[in-house]
Amino acid sequence: MPRYEYRCRSCGDTFEVSRPMAQSSDPADCPAGHTDTVKLLSTVAVAGGSAAPSPAPSPQGGGGCCGGGCCG
Ligand SMILES: [Zn+2]
Repeated sequence: MPRYEYRCRSCGDTFEVSRPMAQSSDPADCPAGHTDTVKLLSTVAVAGGSAAPSPAPSPQGGGGCCGGGCCG
C-alpha cells in the first residue's frame, strides 16, 4: 500500500499515512488531531528505481543465430 506524506498547517508537523491510492486525495488528520492538512508530493516510490529500463547491448544478440553466420 503506498504511503503519502502530509503536512499539518496548524502545527507544521509532517506525517505519513498508508492508504489505498483511491483515497490518496482524501484529507488526512494530523496525529495531533488537526484537520487543516495538505498533501505533499509523494517521495515514497511504490516500486523502487526511477531509471528507465535500458537494455544493454548483448554480444550474443538475442534474435537467433543468424547474426553469427551459422545459418548461412
Ligand atoms: Zn497538527
